[in-house]
Amino acid sequence: VIITQGKYVASAVKPEQYPENDLPEIVFIGRSNVGKSSLINSLTRVNNLARVSSQPGKTQTINFFEVGVKIEEVEGRKAFYLVDLPGYGYAKTGKEKRKIWSKFIEEYFLTSPRLQFVCQLIDIRHDPMASDVEMFEWLVKNNIPVLIVATKADKIGKNARQKNIAAIKRKLGIAEVPVLPYSSLKNEGRSDLLDVIGDSLVE
Ligand code: GDP
Repeated sequence: VIITQGKYVASAVKPEQYPENDLPEIVFIGRSNVGKSSLINSLTRVNNLARVSSQPGKTQTINFFEVGVKIEEVEGRKAFYLVDLPGYGYAKTGKEKRKIWSKFIEEYFLTSPRLQFVCQLIDIRHDPMASDVEMFEWLVKNNIPVLIVATKADKIGKNARQKNIAAIKRKLGIAEVPVLPYSSLKNEGRSDLLDVIGDSLVE
């Protein structure tokens, strides 16, 4: 699977602002600072794509990027929306703000007919936090397929990796949930993630 292009399309805070093209959507979500922007840039190889409208201090929006891919196995070209959701679990986020966040995100998840799957990012060095577990459980409860991407994999050794991935699975409570280690620094995990994306687009 080869990425042929990536471009910013739109930012939205309500359904009327979602783009009108009915492309399949693949969503990226995670706690603030988990490495989401770095991963999107590493995956698409478009530098600073994920920063277009997410400078700190700006209103948090759902950002849509159109990504083109070439899939060798089927000799086909496909496009999808890479959807970048605002980070959750910010230390300063009060209860009220959290409520607004969830309403806005839930609205997105529940009104996206072409949602393929969600990449939920979790820092490989730490156990998932309460907000990660809550998010994960909500997605599972709503029958939304989830791939856990364990970010910053270069920060720990190979042995610790397996151990930490097992700990993440244990904490999330579902042994069969796929967990993919990823390093944006070394582009590790990139081709595996592209394969998962390619498979979801040809099915
Ligand atoms: P976001 O808030 O989730 O978008 O996180 P960023 O992509 O801005 O990353 C947060 C911090 O983690 C930055 O200092 C990044 O340089 C660092 N970071 C992100 N991904 C990696 C990675 O794969 N390896 C290492 N070593 N650092 C990373």
